[in-house]
Amino acid sequence: MSPIIEPTERTKLRRLPKRGAFERDTIYQILDEAFLCHVGFMVDGHPFVIPTGFARIKDNLLVHGSAASRMLRAMSREIDVCVTVTLIDGLVLARSAFHHSMNYRSVVVFGKATVIEDQQEKLTALEAFSNHIIAHRWDEVRPPNELELRATLVLAVPLAEASAKIRTGNPLDDEEDYDLDVWAGVVPLRLVAGPPVADDKLKLGIPIPAHVSKLTVTQVGA
Ligand SMILES: Cc1cc2nc3c(=O)[nH]c(=O)nc-3n(C[C@H](O)[C@H](O)[C@H](O)COP(=O)(O)OP(=O)(O)OC[C@H]3O[C@@H](n4cnc5c(N)ncnc54)[C@H](O)[C@@H]3O)c2cc1C
Repeated sequence: MSPIIEPTERTKLRRLPKRGAFERDTIYQILDEAFLCHVGFMVDGHPFVIPTGFARIKDNLLVHGSAASRMLRAMSREIDVCVTVTLIDGLVLARSAFHHSMNYRSVVVFGKATVIEDQQEKLTALEAFSNHIIAHRWDEVRPPNELELRATLVLAVPLAEASAKIRTGNPLDDEEDYDLDVWAGVVPLRLVAGPPVADDKLKLGIPIPAHVSKLTVTQVGA
């Protein structure tokens, strides 16, 4: 597999192409860090964009859900879909209103999804979903039973036509605006886990497992 995903007419960046990236490693790092994608598709001439969880195995982006889901049923007819993933890294505050921006890393994928029918592949995909939410989760929990497997549809979108776009760094103001008495800079943003909150129905005596507690931010002074 080539380390680069070749740009196509659809993925060639037109605005600020220098922010584009087509290296598989770059694209996969963004996908592996994100929890949420948006799947765009057409049904009966109407565009829909639906947020959903996802996972990646090698060169496939996987989505899953109820076999009754319209999104998944539509996707399983091998229609064209467009999947986007976005990470926001910072607010970019410029000296002029016009040059305000955000630092971000995002990916756009085009393709047709295929249903994963093979039971073992389906289980591997479901393991990837659990572990994408939180590493090592699959090893701790009850695996899906026959009924749950039958009720779940898993689809794979090949990562064959995809682009990343990345903005980093300071605001880019007009030269004459650097003299203005206006604060400018970047406010970094990140997603942090808070202290875990036990389920009301948790059996007594079950400690927070290491894979959960290690997500928690260190509480200053705690
Ligand atoms: C963070 C996150 C993770 C999710 N992960 C999954 C997942 O892994 N698998 C999964 O199947 N679903 C997931 N969902 C739910 C997903 O967005 C859909 O609601 C779900 O797939 C049902 O889709 P459907 O095709 O049956 O809905 P449809 O029957 O297509 O929905 C009918 C209408 O309901 C409204 N609608 C549906 N979903 C949403 C929504 N999320 N927000 C606002 N309006 C909505 C829209 O107007 C839509 O046109 C997730 C949602 C979020 C926000």
